[in-house]
Amino acid sequence: MKKIKKLGKNWRKFWKLGVEEFNTQFFSVNKEGELTATEGHHIYNISDIAQKYGTPLQIIFPFIIEDRLKDLIGYFQAYMKIYGYKGKFFYHYPMKVNQNKEFILSLLSEGANLEVTSVNELSLVKKLWEGERFNSKIRVLCNGPKTEAYLDLIEELRSKGMNIVPIMECLDEVERLSKYKGDVGVRVDLNIKTDSHWDKKFDRFGLSEKDALALGKMKNLRVMHYHMGSQIKTQKSIFEGVKYGFEIYKQLQKTHPSLDTLDIGGGFGVPYEKKKFYTAKGVSSKIIKTLKNLSDKAGIRHPNLVVEWGQYIVAPAQVTIYKVLSEKIIPKANAKAWYIVDGSFMNDLKDTWAIHQKWHAIPANNMQGVLKTTWLAGSTCDSDDKYTAGGNYILLPKLHEKQPARTNVRSGGDQFVAILDTGAYQDGLSSHHCLLSNPMKIIAQDGMIKIARKRETGESIGRLFGWTNGDHK
Ligand SMILES: *Cc1c(COP(=O)(O)O)cnc(C)c1O
Repeated sequence: MKKIKKLGKNWRKFWKLGVEEFNTQFFSVNKEGELTATEGHHIYNISDIAQKYGTPLQIIFPFIIEDRLKDLIGYFQAYMKIYGYKGKFFYHYPMKVNQNKEFILSLLSEGANLEVTSVNELSLVKKLWEGERFNSKIRVLCNGPKTEAYLDLIEELRSKGMNIVPIMECLDEVERLSKYKGDVGVRVDLNIKTDSHWDKKFDRFGLSEKDALALGKMKNLRVMHYHMGSQIKTQKSIFEGVKYGFEIYKQLQKTHPSLDTLDIGGGFGVPYEKKKFYTAKGVSSKIIKTLKNLSDKAGIRHPNLVVEWGQYIVAPAQVTIYKVLSEKIIPKANAKAWYIVDGSFMNDLKDTWAIHQKWHAIPANNMQGVLKTTWLAGSTCDSDDKYTAGGNYILLPKLHEKQPARTNVRSGGDQFVAILDTGAYQDGLSSHHCLLSNPMKIIAQDGMIKIARKRETGESIGRLFGWTNGDHK
């Protein structure tokens, strides 16, 4: 632990908190060694909150969503002005990243448009629309395979006045959508390699370049869309997509003069591992500069730009808290002990299991305590239910160790672990292995805590599996 000594008492730095590039600028350590989050002049003590509401717990911070979206829209609009870019900027939030109402409402409040993937997501948008919860100028892009029910709902909402744009995903959709009375878009599967786990050799999304370019003239084609994959590792890959996508856009526009919008999809990454990463400010500047130069050279008007960076906006807005239930010594490994927690990585943070996602796992209390190398294990009976930081180790305070009274007393001797950046994808993917309860969800906003979703009970989970009252005889 040489590093700890060298850093002296700078625990904030040690735990990589307070760093904008890591998206941890809202988090810090207080004098008692507890993790805090700061919203303006409000401070949330995460250890106290975990003690009060119990664990496993998800804390949602709407102000982080709002802050990030405001900044992102600000960057693009500023660079458009600086470079004399004539197209408009639109942020569309891809709903699949996190469909919780609290997330969507925060995004809408900062001017997000939406992108949906299924009829069920769209039916939630319909609910908001009918409840007059959003500005009628908002635009909704519809991706994913179009079932009859999905197409019918799109038609219904358009006829009621919603600005809703179906994106053609395969040739089978072309015929029906060429008769659509509003704008349509086309998704093109760019024939280009991307620095992302999701860049597969045989991709099935969108039309091939050849098919897209062979489309007969469509009077209502407004949007060309591509999406290269999530968590793109290098900014170079993002720029290559923009340049390559623009070439297709330019050719498409010859056949379809109504085309005026380039939608570059999602994929902007999150520095989960808290290592040096590219920034939204730098990337937005370069995207606008590139598009301006390319369209000036081609002699076409600057395209309107749509960005669907989902994970980038919402991942840092949620923290998941577990309590350590017990400890088991590991004889010979990179870590000295298993810490068994009261939730499940396999259920609550599915990507840990699915794609070996790395997280920033830190203590929520005793942050100045004596540390130990650990691996984390979930509470299901599955040997895959674990988080080992890729076989490395997670540094956490020693348990049952006599801490200075002031550090341990407030948390009643419990040790809490906080996993940062859990706001993207994990909820939609979560499950009920061993029928464990999903974490309780609370909202931290304006200095107050509200319960958004109560903790599941054995009974409520049982109902999902058909165990209704009176059944058990
Ligand atoms: C998943 C998805 C996104 C969001 O991707 P992120 O990596 O979260 O930015 C955007 N657009 C489409 C079409 C998607 O499928």
